[in-house]
Amino acid sequence: MDLFEKTRTFTRAKEAIEMGVYPYFQPLSDSEGTMAIFKGHEVVMIGSNNYLGLTTHPKVRQAAIDAIEKFGTSCTGSRFLNGTLEFHLELDRRLAKFVGKEAALVFSTGYQTNVGTISALVQKGDFVIIDKDDHASIVDGCMLSRGEMRRFNHNDPDSLDKALSRIPEDAGKLVVVDGVYSMGGDIAPLPTLVEICKRYGARIMVDDAHSLGVLADGRGTAAHFGLTDEVDLIMGTFSKSFASIGGFIAGSEQAIHYIQHNARSLLFSASLPAPQAAAVLAALDVIESEPEHVQRLWDNAEYMRAGLHRLGYDTGPSQTPVIPLMIRDEYRTVLAWHALVEEGVYTNPVVPPGVPANSSLLRTSYMATHTKDQLDIALRGLEVVGHNLDLIPQTTSLETA
Ligand code: PMP
Repeated sequence: MDLFEKTRTFTRAKEAIEMGVYPYFQPLSDSEGTMAIFKGHEVVMIGSNNYLGLTTHPKVRQAAIDAIEKFGTSCTGSRFLNGTLEFHLELDRRLAKFVGKEAALVFSTGYQTNVGTISALVQKGDFVIIDKDDHASIVDGCMLSRGEMRRFNHNDPDSLDKALSRIPEDAGKLVVVDGVYSMGGDIAPLPTLVEICKRYGARIMVDDAHSLGVLADGRGTAAHFGLTDEVDLIMGTFSKSFASIGGFIAGSEQAIHYIQHNARSLLFSASLPAPQAAAVLAALDVIESEPEHVQRLWDNAEYMRAGLHRLGYDTGPSQTPVIPLMIRDEYRTVLAWHALVEEGVYTNPVVPPGVPANSSLLRTSYMATHTKDQLDIALRGLEVVGHNLDLIPQTTSLETA
């Protein structure tokens, strides 16, 4: 049997391309944050993770330019050897302080942070227990670990309790949840989860990719609930609010020291380039000194949530600036995505296996830097497409309450 047989019979994406409905891997040009050019159309971008819009903030841009002038474009080595710059150490310190932990460690991507941290900590005989909606990088970290993975129902504390009750009392246990879920935009019920973990002697790690820069003046989910000391590990990415790429894990000095010497995705991969690290440091400066960005993000998100509800969209469990539009049908989701592009609105179509069957959605997410005019263009496009494709009741309108 030829190993490549699967590549010959993989035709699903090609069929969609031939039908002219394939929405993925499509290039954007001239993207400056809130507006982008897509297939020659100007579109309002409501499909990014650039929550605070800092990728184009003058201080962030300048910090990256200055770093590239001084250090060039790559560290050409891992943090373990020649790839640690003062920038990385400063970033470790600043991030630990920002999230309220003793220590932090910067990785080259958020994906590598989850994979490296989980696989280093969870060893043979240990258990890792994850929410069914956790990000793929958490699942991959579990699969790379030598321990056993268990899953509990999304945001369901009773299901976590049951999963933990079935694990031998003396086994090492790590529970991993997202702080804000990337598709549903809902927040993990951390107070109850922490209480359950304590009862079973389990450690808890929170992936704050979509919560940093968003919850608690940008400090994330543990800070939002006043549980910074109760959460063992806080993970973050730089590819969202921090306007860069990279990731970090924060916790006790002892835990971080161990991860630093055991996370293979850190030890055997080149470190974050200087301009990317400098951009994060500048983004942190901006977040700490200009709290209005987080406030504007929430104002814009609530403006859109109100408009979407007025139109009759089902926004699922969202409580944050990530607002899914539940279409629940794969084909109609892709059709709606195309129709919205025609109306000048860029969203993200999410279909199985990204979400369970019958949960297809258009992921929308908002930015601090969107203007009201841009948000109104988006709402008008969503009104037209919603009515044309019967995604919302025909009787709704933005004009009537
Ligand atoms: N965790 C979550 C919840 C994410 O949404 C993402 C990225 N979408 C990651 C981890 C991985 O982050 P990165 O893009 O920095 O690799």
